[in-house]
Amino acid sequence: MSLQMDISFVCECGELVEDIVYVQDPDFSAEKNKDSQTDTWQEIYCVSCDKEHIIQVTNTFYGAMASGNYGDMEVSYGMPYFPDDEQEELSWVIDSKDQLEIFKAQISSVESLLALDLDADLKFNLLVMLYGHVVAAVEAYLSSTFIHCVTNSEALVRKLVETDPTFSKRTFTLKEIFEERESIKITVANYLKDLIFHDLKKVKPMYRDVLNYDFGDISWLFKAVQVRHHCAHRAGYDKSGNKVDLSSEIIRGLVEKSVELVEKLDVRAKEVEFDNTLPF
Ligand SMILES: [Zn+2]
Repeated sequence: MSLQMDISFVCECGELVEDIVYVQDPDFSAEKNKDSQTDTWQEIYCVSCDKEHIIQVTNTFYGAMASGNYGDMEVSYGMPYFPDDEQEELSWVIDSKDQLEIFKAQISSVESLLALDLDADLKFNLLVMLYGHVVAAVEAYLSSTFIHCVTNSEALVRKLVETDPTFSKRTFTLKEIFEERESIKITVANYLKDLIFHDLKKVKPMYRDVLNYDFGDISWLFKAVQVRHHCAHRAGYDKSGNKVDLSSEIIRGLVEKSVELVEKLDVRAKEVEFDNTLPF
């Protein structure tokens, strides 16, 4: 995936030309900033007079810039950013029925990795990674299953709007309402994805209110999310600098609970999927 950047310039005919150019990565193998420079030249045509302009995009470790017509033309430019592939990813989550298979595939290699004979430091790093991996797999399953179930049922979208305080406050633009159904699905999916990924605590009430599903006590999962946070952001150390308590047994216990949670929930998810007329 390549970075892109918004640019604009005033053509000699007076037209303000706005466009998007691609930004090549700097040379990451360079040791000094000045050696990291990469340049690309792209042709941008004026929409009014059709004149061709050459836009040079220069990128270094310090940042990207753009200039025009070999220095003869001033070009305004913004920060480089990744193109929005989110829509594609969300469509996939909405349509896919393979959430359980994906979860199982993600979990399947954990046991064989735990069996590896490694020295203590390496083993700890592996445990840190596996812990984060298992929690992420559960989160992805919970989020994608919820999104899949809800976006494919008008009744459940309505239920969500009625029961979720944030969602009910969100007003849809006329454009969103009158656009085809697929784009409303995307809007709902995007909202849910942001919401769930940033706050797992919301998952429990949402599953309860919208899918009529009670997880029971999942305090172990909330605790695991916190531990994962230490794992991901402090390389396995908590705020006070203590090593997080991790062992093969702890990972196996986490896997076991996760599989149980996911398999039980999947039964309910399949019911919802095959019969949207179930009384909720
Ligand atoms: Zn022009």
